[in-house]
This record gives sequence, C-alpha cells and structure tokens, in this order.
Amino acid sequence: MSDHRWEVVIGMEVHVQPKTLSKMFCGCGIAPLNAAPNTYVCEVCLGLPGVLPVPNEAAVEACLKTALALNCEIPRHTKFDRKNYMYPDLPKGYQISQYDLPMSVKGYLEVGTRKVRIRRVHLEEDTGKLIHAGDRLHKAWESYVDLNRAGVPLMEIVSEPDLRSADEARDYAMELRTLLRTIGASEADMEKGQMRVEPNVSIRRNDTEGLGVKTELKNINSFRALHRAISFEVARQSELLESGGVVVQETRGWSEAEGRTFSQRSKEFAEDYRYFPEPDIPPLELDREWIAQLRLSLPELPSVRRGRLAEKHRLPVAVAEAIGGDRELADLFEMAVERGAPAVATANWIVNEVAPSGKLLAGESLAALMKLVEGGSITRDQARETYFEAVETGHTPAEIVTEHGFTQVSDEAQLRVIAEAVIDANPKAAGDYRAGKKQAMQALMADLRKRAPQANPKLANEVLLKLLG
Ligand SMILES: [Zn+2]
Repeated sequence: MSDHRWEVVIGMEVHVQPKTLSKMFCGCGIAPLNAAPNTYVCEVCLGLPGVLPVPNEAAVEACLKTALALNCEIPRHTKFDRKNYMYPDLPKGYQISQYDLPMSVKGYLEVGTRKVRIRRVHLEEDTGKLIHAGDRLHKAWESYVDLNRAGVPLMEIVSEPDLRSADEARDYAMELRTLLRTIGASEADMEKGQMRVEPNVSIRRNDTEGLGVKTELKNINSFRALHRAISFEVARQSELLESGGVVVQETRGWSEAEGRTFSQRSKEFAEDYRYFPEPDIPPLELDREWIAQLRLSLPELPSVRRGRLAEKHRLPVAVAEAIGGDRELADLFEMAVERGAPAVATANWIVNEVAPSGKLLAGESLAALMKLVEGGSITRDQARETYFEAVETGHTPAEIVTEHGFTQVSDEAQLRVIAEAVIDANPKAAGDYRAGKKQAMQALMADLRKRAPQANPKLANEVLLKLLG
C-alpha cells in the first residue's frame, strides 16, 4: 500500500448509554449484565398494544448536557420519530428515534489539533438481544430473545467525516469518553457496551475533493480494536483500488480473533426506514432557561482543565494531557498540590504509579508522601512501597515509614564509607572514569545502590564524584 497516494476519511457514529435509573420510555430499571433474561420488561418495552411511551427526563438531560459540552446548537423544539425495524429484538416493529428535529446539531470536539465537527446528538432506544443456539449436526436451531435491553436509552453522537487516520479516530473516541465521564452523562465503558463506536471509512486520492465509497465497521468493543479495524480497512480498500477493483458500500463486522473485517450487509439497496413522527409523544419544547441552567451546571471540560493544569503548575504538556484527561487523576493531583505537594513531582508520580495501577490514595496522604520524597527522607522504592501499603491498609505514609524504619541515608560521612568501598571493588570502572569515560559512573552507581539501597542517590553521586575527582 502506498500511503502517499491515498487520503483516509473517517466519520464516527457513537452510541452511548446515558446514566439513568430507568429505560427511555417506561419505568423499567436498567438490567445489570448478569440479569436473568426478560426480567426487566413491562408492557411498554414489550410493545403490547394500548400503552403510551413517556420520555425519560434524565436521559433528555444527559443528552442535552452532552450536546452542550460538544458545543452543539440546541433547537427550540425537538421530536421523536418511529424508524421501521423488522427484527424480533424490538417487538413493536419500530424503534423510537429522532429524524429531522434532533435534540442538537452542529457542534465540534477538539482532538489534538483537529476540530472534529459534530453533525448531531440525538436520543433513541436500544434494541433487545437475539441469541441463536442449537446443534449444527442435527440442524436443531433455536433462537431466543432477551428484551432486558429493549428500550434502554441511547444517545447517538454523529460526527462529520473529519478524521484522517486510525490514530485520530481512536483519539476522538477516547476524548469523547473522557468528556462523557467528566460531565457525568455516561460511564461510557466500551466493554460493558455502554459506548459503541462505529467508524465509517473511505479513502480518496490525495489530489481529489470528493468522497470515496465508504464502509461502516461494527462489533468494535475496545479502543485497540477500533484502531486495528480501521487500519485493516484502509489497507484493504487501497489494495482493492490499486488493483483496479471497487469498494462496495456495505456494513462490515470486525473479527478480533482473525484481525480482519468481513462483509455483513450490503448497502447496495439503501435501507428505507420510512421514518414518521411518533404520534404518542408530543414534540418537546426545550425551555431556554433550562438549557442555560444545564450549561452552567457543566463542570470544567477536559480540554480546559488540561490547559489550566499545564499553565498554572508548569507541567510538561504530555503530563498535563495524561492527568487532565482523567477526572479522578486530575482531582487527586489538585487536592495533593493544594495540600502542599510539589506539583511536577506529584504529576509524574500520578502518571507513573497511580495511573497504571488504578489505585488512588486520598489527596492528603499523597501530599504527605510526596513531601517525604521531596525532603529526601525516603527513597523512591520506599515511597512506592509506602504508597501501595497506604492504599491497602489505610495507614498514613508517616505511620508506614516509621513502622518499616524507612529512611534514606543522607549522611555524608556514612556515604563516603560506602563510596570508598565501591571504588575499591571496581578498580576498572574507577580507572575508566578517571581516564575520561564518563559513562563508567553508571556501573559505580549501580554497585553503590546494590550495597546501600537506602542511600540518597543524588548525594551519593556527589560523594563518588568528589572521591574520583
Ligand atoms: Zn419497560
């Protein structure tokens, strides 16, 4: 594949389950993943005749907050529509969605240096789940339907085709998740199906403006899979076009096990959903006062917080990005710094120790620990041990340090004795260093750390330098 000839064009359709206690149009609760089939259902979500759907205010609110955080315009009126749907996992025979008057339009999300336009954010209901089981050998097929999920609220966030690589598409999805979690609209856990990402991918020659034929990718349940699926699809399409073939507009599934996309459903005959207005739900008037209140209720958004952290605490950009992209980590950082922890060291600690382990200590304890490290009272290894023990036991860092007798040797006379022993034991490295091979110091320091793990490394280095000088 020759990348220079092709430009990648990606748009994203993301379905997100807003955080609500009940379903979109009835009072049924949201079933946990392990719930017995068909235990979270009622006459409304089973589609029995003679019932009336009532929109869930919490879902509308989550959708509006998401739209506002994505800089969307909120129209004065919005309405629901029926979208014809012919599968048994939605027994009504239609899905309530939004067609020509969605909850919001024309926003954007900044991802790195790219401003990705958002076409619309609207609300709809989820479908149930079909389970096909059976015995291939005896051709005894059985199909089951579980309607626990039928009628669960979903927000659909549709972007314009503004993304240009698999990296950008993954970053967009991650930024969206951060945003949704920050404003409390959704937990957006991809593994739990609370966030489903469907990229549409096409390629075009670098020197053209029009769009190529796109394929839509489904069954993606992680950021990694998103990246892999798009990369595969770009390679497949460019190989196809370069060998004189054509791309067919279709829906393709992603097989994680095989690492490839496969054709699911051809879009040759464009689906005609025959939308029509939902007669049982009157159009909603979106009160301006309410919208203004929702806008004011939004917390500081991740992009703003990252900028503020970098500037106020003089953090390196990458560190500010990593912390500002996670509300819990950013809160922890700010709490610790407010309690006197050194900013840059604490930020690095959070990136290197807290983020990978996912174990959070209270801000006050982290501040106490970082002050011990900064003052040279304990080594970094001891600090690490103290941190995780504090998380486990709830003891304070000071208690743990005392209990273990953790201290760092910062006494120059003591360090001098150790340094002399190191030089005696490593005549070659010492000689090399004296002859001008500066990297020989690494071997000497390594031996020193082995003999005296408690030694303050900065001071020990100085003592070694003096002895060798
Ligand atoms: Zn129900």
